[in-house]
This record gives sequence, structure tokens and C-alpha cells, in this order.
Amino acid sequence: MKRNMIAGNWKMNMLRHEASELTQNIISGVAALTHDIDILLAPPYTSLDIVRELLNNTEIKLAAQDVFWEDRGAYTGEISPAMLIDAGCEWTIIGHSERRGILGETDSVVRKKIKASLEDGLNVIVCVGETLEQREEGKTIQIVTSQVESALKDLELNDMASFVIAYEPIWAIGTGKNATPEEAEHVHATIREITGNIFGQDSELIRIIYGGSVNVDNIEELINMDNIDGALIGGAGLNADSFVSIVKIAGE
Ligand code: PEP
Repeated sequence: MKRNMIAGNWKMNMLRHEASELTQNIISGVAALTHDIDILLAPPYTSLDIVRELLNNTEIKLAAQDVFWEDRGAYTGEISPAMLIDAGCEWTIIGHSERRGILGETDSVVRKKIKASLEDGLNVIVCVGETLEQREEGKTIQIVTSQVESALKDLELNDMASFVIAYEPIWAIGTGKNATPEEAEHVHATIREITGNIFGQDSELIRIIYGGSVNVDNIEELINMDNIDGALIGGAGLNADSFVSIVKIAGE
């Protein structure tokens, strides 16, 4: 059975004491809910250990925000899949638009990171999405298709539930603007068709989640769409009350 997913990407926010407080508040808020949903928290590297410890004995999973594609060696500043697993992560985000845009991460780098992570047993959320300019030029489907096809090229996927695609229109991230549920659904349905063509019927188990200014007011309409299996939350995930409310609505 496919479970919806709500993942909080904290980006470069939260000192250790703040991460600890936010995690504790999320844990107690979520504990009061009955839900059937996968919940992930992706703190910065410097707080992974503290969040890991707090998440023990809960069902909330730990995720990293990025990963490198080699297991060890002379790659100053990088963190490998094995290191993330060692630190208690079960998931990693790969190819977030901020990494693609600000740090120049290409489709081929994204592909190497996906492959290395899955080979080591680290589950993956890969992000795709178009810029405002690309959307205005009518290129949304073309851009997203090429990003998804590149991410999936030559990929052996043994467990469909270990691979999540996050559609995040770049113009909607952190801007307060978001795609209408219908606009998002159209792109998600296209992604579903691509995964179906590549992996066949089992690919129904791949979750396709939406990201871009998701909040308590818009999650319900989004999650009700056929091909929207959850959300990647930025800003609203930095506040325990709003994150827990999103989980509550999505899990109902
Ligand atoms: C994100 O960073 O993936 C994101 C969707 O951010 P926000 O919710 O703030 O738009």
C-alpha cells in the first residue's frame, strides 16, 4: 500500500538548540494524531545527530538535504551515502532547485547521487521543477520530462517505495505563490506516465509529492488530487504547529 508522505526541508536554518526544540514540538504534536502517513524531517547536517536521538522510538524518519556520489575519499566538504546512513538517515533529498540553481548541480550530478544513494540503501527524494520563465514560455512539461527522464536513466529500482519524486515549480518555492491543484496534478500525471513507461505497473508505488509554498490552507486541495502523494514543505515546516497541522490534514 502506498502511504502519503510529508517531508520538512529545513534548509540552512536551525541551530542545534532550535532544531532540538522544533523536533520535540513536532514529535509531541504528531503523537496526538492518528494518521497513516510517512513523516520525514531534513535538518541541516549539523543537527542530524541531535534530531536522530530525539526521533528514536518515533515513526518519524530522518533525511539529509543532499549527498555526494562517492563513498569515501578526497572530496573535501562532501558527505557520502554511507556516512548519512551511519548518522541515522534513511532518506536524502537530491537535486533541490536551490542546489541546481545556486550551486550549479546538473542533471548528470543528480543522477550520480541517486544511483550511489540507492545502491547504498539510502532512500531518495529527487526534486524537479521549472523556472517562471520556462513556465511562461509553455515549457513546463518539456523541462520536467527531461529532468525526470534523466534522473531515471539506467536506474534499477528494486523497491518503488524507496524512490520519491518531488515536483517543485521553482517560482513557487518560498514565494507564497503556488501552482493550483489542477496545474500541479497535470504535471504529476505526466510524471506518473513517464515512470509507468519505464517501470511498468509497479511504478504506481512511486510517490510523487508536491512542493512550493505548501501550507495549512492549501494542503487539503493538493493532497486530494489523484497523483499528489504528499508534500515537501520548506517554510511552513519551520514552525511545529503549522507542520503538525499539515500532517494532520494530509493524514486524514
Ligand atoms: C522547498 O524548499 O522544497 C520548499 C517547497 O519550500 P517552501 O515550502 O518554503 O516553498
